[in-house]
Amino acid sequence: MPTPDLLDPKKEHTLVLVKPDGFRRGLTGEILRRIESKGYVLKGLKIKQADRALLEEHYAEHRERPFFQGLIEYMSASPLVAIVVEGDRVIEGVRSLMGTTNPTLAAPGTIRGDLGRDWGTGQVENLVHGSDSTTSAIREIALWFPELEYHAED
Ligand code: GDP
Ligand code: MG
Repeated sequence: MPTPDLLDPKKEHTLVLVKPDGFRRGLTGEILRRIESKGYVLKGLKIKQADRALLEEHYAEHRERPFFQGLIEYMSASPLVAIVVEGDRVIEGVRSLMGTTNPTLAAPGTIRGDLGRDWGTGQVENLVHGSDSTTSAIREIALWFPELEYHAED
């Protein structure tokens, strides 16, 4: 029997962040409710004040983008919640629950569409992050949960 702090390598996992705006607005429970109601399972969860180094690594693919510095400031302004979620096709599934990046364009019924805020020229406050591929998920889980390990395959 695997212990609860080990991940089953045969199952799919994704990294979810309830971003600082979501945590500040008290929406962590609402976001977790949507994820759990869908049937996904929480495998790791922590409140964390992310530092610039961690966020620059997390968002390395966006380093050259004009919004990068604003993004790091938004993400480090106050604590966030980091979560490892497990389930069948959970990477795609969480992206679907989240909705598209811009909250104004995100479909109603999605987390961002229902609850996210678009400040126009300012920061997009879109509440949540979810890994976008298997490669990203493995990299991001290792970054945010270095203590969490995959147990050996049988
Ligand atoms: P995601 O995968 O849907 O979160 O979107 P991306 O990977 O493209 O971008 C990462 C994060 O950067 C987004 O969730 C936003 O917080 C932020 N971001 C992306 N595009 C923009 C933009 O055009 N302007 C601003 N201000 N922020 C952006
Ligand atoms: Mg992304």
